Amino acid sequence: MSAAPETPATPEADTVRYTRDGAVAIVTMNRPQYRNAQNAQMTLALDAAFTRAMQDDEVRVVVLAGEGKHFSAGHDIGTPGRDIHRDFPRVATQFWNHEGKAGSENIYVREQELYLGMCRRWRELPKPTIASIQGACIAGGLMLAWACDLIIAADDAFFADPVVKMGIPGVEYFAHPFAMSPRLAKEFLFLGEKIDAARAREIGMVNRVVPRDALAAETLALAKRIGEMPRFALALTKKAVNQAEDRMGLRDSMDAAYGLHQLAHAHNSLTSEDHLAGQDARTMAKGLK
Ligand code: ZN
Repeated sequence: MSAAPETPATPEADTVRYTRDGAVAIVTMNRPQYRNAQNAQMTLALDAAFTRAMQDDEVRVVVLAGEGKHFSAGHDIGTPGRDIHRDFPRVATQFWNHEGKAGSENIYVREQELYLGMCRRWRELPKPTIASIQGACIAGGLMLAWACDLIIAADDAFFADPVVKMGIPGVEYFAHPFAMSPRLAKEFLFLGEKIDAARAREIGMVNRVVPRDALAAETLALAKRIGEMPRFALALTKKAVNQAEDRMGLRDSMDAAYGLHQLAHAHNSLTSEDHLAGQDARTMAKGLK
């Protein structure tokens, strides 16, 4: 694959906003013009915001939200700010830089750091996190939502992981068989179709569904209630549940799935024009039902 520079002419400022309301930190993705598509710049800004919330003793609970009509359309596969060939300092892993590396080394290293590594790091944040979701929550958007402890969805929210269309067996943070039953995970992936907020709640993937115009207030109210509990007990409780999920196989399943994911990228690179089988944001959106 080519290593053409993708650095935008004008770097975007404030891809993530950080605000605080009492004991609640609110981290908001802020690329609404691109449906909050995540480039590396945004991922690192998210990480900096989560770290800030973790280090602030006044903060008890963290809310993750998206500015605009949509939570997140996924990883950036086509905006002017796409930056997949750019290196940034490693935060989640100890891997070397991916820039200029050939073959699978490039994608494997980059996605370990920015996708799997970051989501795992955020899942382990020792304060409760709540994803507040409206509109699209697609592919890479799911990874952010699933890394959070609770998910509150607006009634207009919808969820999909359509990457099988790219020849890829699900997004890098492979929590599908844990976010829903294994049988439903297969349906969700095989079809790549949207499920709406009501269905997502029915299958246990989201905690609550609220009217769109009440989403921010309901999420904040819930966060404040949780924030009244003892800080250390919340951290221990979160750890206890996360440990249980890992004993059920979450972590090992993700590592195994990551190998298959990278096999698919390599296969795409061997048989098509790039590691995404020539798909981009436009072609992916076209077939989404
Ligand atoms: Zn990937």
